[in-house]
This record gives sequence, structure tokens and C-alpha cells, in this order.
Amino acid sequence: MVKRSEKARTMRKVIKAIWIFNWFNSCGFAELVPVVGSRWDMERFGMIIVGTPRHADVMVVSGSVPRKIRDKLKRIYDQMPEPKFVVAVGSCAITGGVFQDCYNVFEGVDKVIPVDAYIPGCPPKPEAILDGVVKLLVSVGY
Ligand code: SF4
Repeated sequence: MVKRSEKARTMRKVIKAIWIFNWFNSCGFAELVPVVGSRWDMERFGMIIVGTPRHADVMVVSGSVPRKIRDKLKRIYDQMPEPKFVVAVGSCAITGGVFQDCYNVFEGVDKVIPVDAYIPGCPPKPEAILDGVVKLLVSVGY
């Protein structure tokens, strides 16, 4: 039997659509666009993009994480209300990817903020992104 964390128990109380704040860099923007579009249509699963972290439940981070934006990323994360979740999408967000050895890029967004789910790929397929977000939500009893 899986023991649920306090965060998971709190998340169960959220009874509305999942509002997603998309933070992207480099070509990370292109990773989420197909999922938003009509072919994969994430709104079928109650997931919508919001323009402000203050209303978001989930932050999807895609693309590389340059060192110079560390403070801004942390501030955006801090503005999200609890319970909040972070999903790292793509190799760059998870490990630095093709920019891994660059002096100015973090080797993963989890060096800056806590990450709840990782969706690998370069870029991950839209099905993988949907699958990852849904698995995260199911794992916390959404
Ligand atoms: S993982 Fe690949 S597709 Fe995604 S931002 Fe990095 S290089 Fe671009």
C-alpha cells in the first residue's frame, strides 16, 4: 500500500482543473505547444495554461536553466500557492541536456527548485508529457 504524503493529501482537496504555468527557455517552448493544440488537446484532462504563477497548481519547466535566471525562477516558484508541483520536461530541464557542460547552465532545474516529476526526451513526445502529468496527479490522488 502506498502511503500518501501530507502534500498528496492536500492535493486531494483541490477540486478544480489543473492550472499550469509554463516556464520555458531555449527550444523548450516548442515542447508544450503541441500538447496545448487541438491534436493532443490537454484541456480534455482539465489542464489549462495560466499566465501567472499566483494561480497555478503545476509549473512545467522546459528547456535549459541558465544560472543568471536562478533568482527569477525561484521567485516565480515562491509565488505559486500551496499545494504546488513542478514537472521537469525534457533533457535540458532534467540534466542540462545538450548544454550540460556549459558554465552558465544548471545541470537540471532541481538544482534550483524541488521537482515532483521528470519527463525525459529531447524533446519528449506530447503523449509522454500528458502521461507524465496525469501519472503525477494520479500518484497524489487527484
Ligand atoms: S531537451 Fe531538446 S528539445 Fe528540449 S529544450 Fe533541450 S534541446 Fe530543446
